[in-house]
Amino acid sequence: MIIENIIQIGNPILSANAKKVNNIHSLETKETITNLIDTMRAKNLIGMAASQIGVKLRIFVTEIRSTMYRKSTDDNFLRIFINPIITWESKQECTIYESCGSVAYTRLFAPVKRPKKIVIEAFDDNGKKFKLKADGLLSRVIQHEYDHLNWIEFTQKITDMRKIMSSEEYVKRVVNKKK
Ligand SMILES: [Zn+2]
Repeated sequence: MIIENIIQIGNPILSANAKKVNNIHSLETKETITNLIDTMRAKNLIGMAASQIGVKLRIFVTEIRSTMYRKSTDDNFLRIFINPIITWESKQECTIYESCGSVAYTRLFAPVKRPKKIVIEAFDDNGKKFKLKADGLLSRVIQHEYDHLNWIEFTQKITDMRKIMSSEEYVKRVVNKKK
């Protein structure tokens, strides 16, 4: 198991151009996916993009599950997205608090408004193309990770700077309040 150091905002590697994966079955692709999954799980994250571990490929993974920051009842499948394209976004938007392994190691939470639902097309790790309609937290995580492939960090999309919270305050005031 390899747990990578998560590259932090301000490092130009995060804004490097992520390239399309040409060979899904290559060792580089396989190792990138394994390292992403191991790191995501070890760092208490529910999604992670290759650029966050210094790999400039259009790959990200998601795994919606409960963490110290989320009490999720959504499905908990591990999903792998290679060369993804978001093909549809709902007009309806919603605001959800986001954080990121690359922004002060998830110590900062802030509200971000995005489309509520999306449709994404991508390839899985077997090279099989799939299409997925997502809502809720999965939709949100997919959009966040997809942005990483296009150099966009969620901090660029914060809708209300006055509502930024440290992770401790977020857990106290948002996560535990919902009980
Ligand atoms: Zn992120």
